[in-house]
Amino acid sequence: MEAEARRRKTRQLALVLDAVLASGTEHPSADGIFARVRAVLPTISLGTVYRNLHRLADEGRIGVLHLADRLARFDPTPGGHDHFVCEGCGRIEDLPTAPLDVEANAARRAGHHVTGHALVLYGRCRACAAGAT
Ligand SMILES: [Zn+2]
Ligand SMILES: [Zn+2]
Repeated sequence: MEAEARRRKTRQLALVLDAVLASGTEHPSADGIFARVRAVLPTISLGTVYRNLHRLADEGRIGVLHLADRLARFDPTPGGHDHFVCEGCGRIEDLPTAPLDVEANAARRAGHHVTGHALVLYGRCRACAAGAT
């Protein structure tokens, strides 16, 4: 039974990881991942999905992004990259990470040791800016 339980947990973790990797640049919330995993494993609970998402994030295997609405979004690309969030349609796009020299130097002058940054730009995406809304 012990081995059985372990196998089940390993499968759940693998399915959650697969769902995040398959999400591309969508940056889904835990609910979005839950819906995907549930399509494959209907008996899984939201709590289990949540626990596995946080474990994967803690282990650095996926990225997690906290936006102004405080909902955690999950990202197949772990580590530092920047994001653009459209306030019109809510899409989240990856941006190439650029050095933030001005900000980093200000932090260094204040005596802090800078190890990285996570920048989120807000605005309207190309489609929303052009569209009639
Ligand atoms: Zn938009
Ligand atoms: Zn991202």
